[in-house]
Amino acid sequence: MNLLPFDSLPACAPRRFVPANLDLGEWTQIAPLFDRLEASAAGCKTVAEVENWLLDWSETNAALDEESSRRYIAMTCHTDNAEAQKAYLHFIEQLEPRLKPRQFKLAQLYLAQPWRSQLPKARYEVFDRDTQLHVELFRPENVPLETEEAKLSQRYQELAGSLTVQFRGQEKTLPQMAPFLEEQDRPLRQEAWELVANRRLEEADKFDEIFDQQLKLREQIAANAGFKSYLEYAFRARGRFDYTPADCRQFHDTIAQEIMPVLRELLATRRRQLGLASLRPWDLAVDPLNRPPLRPFAQVEEMVGKAQRIFDQLDGKLAAGFRTLQELRLLDLANRKGKAPGGYQATLSEARLPFIFMNAVGLQRDVETMLHEAGHAFHALATRAEDLHAYRSAPIEFCEVASMSMELLGNEFLEEYYSPADAKRARHKHLEGIVEIFPWIATVDAFQHWIYSHPGHSPAGRTAAWLALLDRFGGEVDWTGYEKARAKLWHRQLHIFLHPFYYVEYGIAQLGALQVWANSRQDRPKALASYHRGLALGGSRPLPELFAAAGCRFDFSGQTVKPLIEMVRSELAKLK
Ligand SMILES: [Zn+2]
Repeated sequence: MNLLPFDSLPACAPRRFVPANLDLGEWTQIAPLFDRLEASAAGCKTVAEVENWLLDWSETNAALDEESSRRYIAMTCHTDNAEAQKAYLHFIEQLEPRLKPRQFKLAQLYLAQPWRSQLPKARYEVFDRDTQLHVELFRPENVPLETEEAKLSQRYQELAGSLTVQFRGQEKTLPQMAPFLEEQDRPLRQEAWELVANRRLEEADKFDEIFDQQLKLREQIAANAGFKSYLEYAFRARGRFDYTPADCRQFHDTIAQEIMPVLRELLATRRRQLGLASLRPWDLAVDPLNRPPLRPFAQVEEMVGKAQRIFDQLDGKLAAGFRTLQELRLLDLANRKGKAPGGYQATLSEARLPFIFMNAVGLQRDVETMLHEAGHAFHALATRAEDLHAYRSAPIEFCEVASMSMELLGNEFLEEYYSPADAKRARHKHLEGIVEIFPWIATVDAFQHWIYSHPGHSPAGRTAAWLALLDRFGGEVDWTGYEKARAKLWHRQLHIFLHPFYYVEYGIAQLGALQVWANSRQDRPKALASYHRGLALGGSRPLPELFAAAGCRFDFSGQTVKPLIEMVRSELAKLK
């Protein structure tokens, strides 16, 4: 039974090393590839042979990576299918632990190559730097711990994806409840919000338990690798060569100083417009002028068709890319029970093609997600000609520039979905979302800085740290009577569970995206040419160069933040 939305995909580059009919789910078939790679590493006699060997290794990695992605896609599209769960689990439990020491060995052999110093420096310096980091951090004793960690992540996914509520006689998934928070009827919003908050709270102990186990594993992983804290380990492991924990803490301060006043202003306006004495948690998504919710589309096909028309107007390359995704059925976009929550783009590394997953229910947010994930997909398409697997993906800080820029650029054409007045409203909402997300990013990031630099902290200490951050970055919202839900609000942020410290990247990248947008308002074709240039570099150059190629600065100090947030603020004023 094919659990994937797509059938066979056209090959991008024919295999030359991995046998055509190899079962990539069987270790006994995979191991000989690594035996061959180890043996041939020793036999390299020229620079050309080293490069050739790198391509064999690269092809192996792409094939394995695609196998893992296919299993992940099948699992997230069918969280209720035992076979799909089992197949994914098999990969992470049986194959990944065996792959890691073999990959480590190849990295060592590569670094020991006498010919390596003669490889063209500009071409290989990033690869060398990353391979050195891999060797520096690898500890065989961490492999089983990382497997445990991945299994706990899967438990979080399962638990979060399984939650439903009974609302007015119908069973609803939590994402299906989101539209009700945009309803004008305030008691209805409150009812919907309470149902969801209480449903999550019922599982609060389970979420806490999963996280506590993950925390213990992570501290052990860091200690095994010789680090004082998981914070220090994570910065190294995430390959953050161009910024430090102190830079991030300074970013939090900049957000407090430059962005919080804009957020407070927006919330105060919202409260006034709604005619309320105070804003409650269920008052944040509704239109403040009590207009009915924006309904950009009824059917997912309609959402896709209109997105296509947006790309048609933006740029020929983007238009052709999105058409490819539709033709090859590389999209699973509608929400249904049994799908994992959220949205993502995954790359099928061997076909060198992207796949987009999301849970669309008919909201403006879905249009934003569609544009966002399409930006990631364009990034994957832009690097198809790159033969080194490692260079076909960029650091996350830049991946999110690709996606967030597409939200801002695509939003210029929202009239495809709306009347001119509604399009303005949707743009206002999107920019409001950008203002709101920075403080949330600071909260989630600062929370993790706290967690991982306070080993052995108590549950009460952790809660106090969380609440203090909500006070600093939460704006004026009245949570009276819902203190417990507020204290556990972080449970809904999957990154904290699945990808520790992966969140500040969104803030760094949003600054890049705002710069791309600012550029496009001066000269759209030029800005898009830079955008494509940056994307096509994949991960072959360091972050500051990727940003520069895309026409922006890699910097998140007040100097960059201030003018950008000023632009957003004045744009918001125009859209009122
Ligand atoms: Zn993204």
